[in-house]
Amino acid sequence: MDFPRQTLNEICPCCGANLWKFLYNSTFNHYNIPIFLCASCGLQTQYPRPKASELYTEEYYSGNADFSYRDERKTEKFDRYVWNARIKNIQKFKYTGQFLDVGCSFGGFLNCAKEAGFDVTGVEISPFSAKIAEARGFKVFTGEFLDADLPENFFDVVTLVEVIEHLSEPSLVFAKLNRILKPGGLLLLQTANFEGWQAIEAGPSYHYYLPGHFYYYSESNLKKILDQSGFKDHITYPGVDFSLSAKLLKSRGSFSSWFEYWKWIRIGIYHWKSKFKKNGRPLTSSMVLYSFKVE
Ligand SMILES: [Zn+2]
Repeated sequence: MDFPRQTLNEICPCCGANLWKFLYNSTFNHYNIPIFLCASCGLQTQYPRPKASELYTEEYYSGNADFSYRDERKTEKFDRYVWNARIKNIQKFKYTGQFLDVGCSFGGFLNCAKEAGFDVTGVEISPFSAKIAEARGFKVFTGEFLDADLPENFFDVVTLVEVIEHLSEPSLVFAKLNRILKPGGLLLLQTANFEGWQAIEAGPSYHYYLPGHFYYYSESNLKKILDQSGFKDHITYPGVDFSLSAKLLKSRGSFSSWFEYWKWIRIGIYHWKSKFKKNGRPLTSSMVLYSFKVE
């Protein structure tokens, strides 16, 4: 993919500065995405950005596009280990109530939330995936999150798992996330932490630089945006918000022979590394943030 080089003249959605510096062209998978860095807060963004409607085709969701999301329908049995473990952790804070998953894909995670006792709703940009989730009986708004007609002060839990980096206009997105949650409601965000050593050491070759990823956050600038958007009591889970055992059980879904069980060692090491810091930065760049709407 080739992008024409441009200058970026926008207000930073995190800190309000207009101090974008061209950082580099990404090299992961030869996408050559121009990456800009806010010199004031460290937020990164790709510019120019493709249109969302051009990115999320049927091929994307069935794992057949050039840059792709794996087909969750094939691995749902194994993904459920992680989804159920995550719901269990969410239930330490919100045991039941209205649950929204933004970017719900085929509805696998919604299904686990429903089984645990939540009333569930999804938002999904792809008509292909949304239709399948609807056929399973879920209420799904098809389209972009900012266009979805969602009730205000309504949801107890809103989750965006590897979704926030895909959304343009972050200021509007965070304001809407705040509006639709009940006071005290829980927002769950999973995205890469660009302050972690994994992202820093990989530099332009970091695998998170994908055409559909518009903004690249860090723990500190995400917390800053959340503070400004009416959230408080942030909890950071370095790595993920569930145990290694759930991750290991999930990974079996991608193994085609018992030889592949050696990957459990690699997954275990990564999980263990994610809990440690060097010079104040976490060793890996995986993170999950829980945040609560100010009451
Ligand atoms: Zn900034």
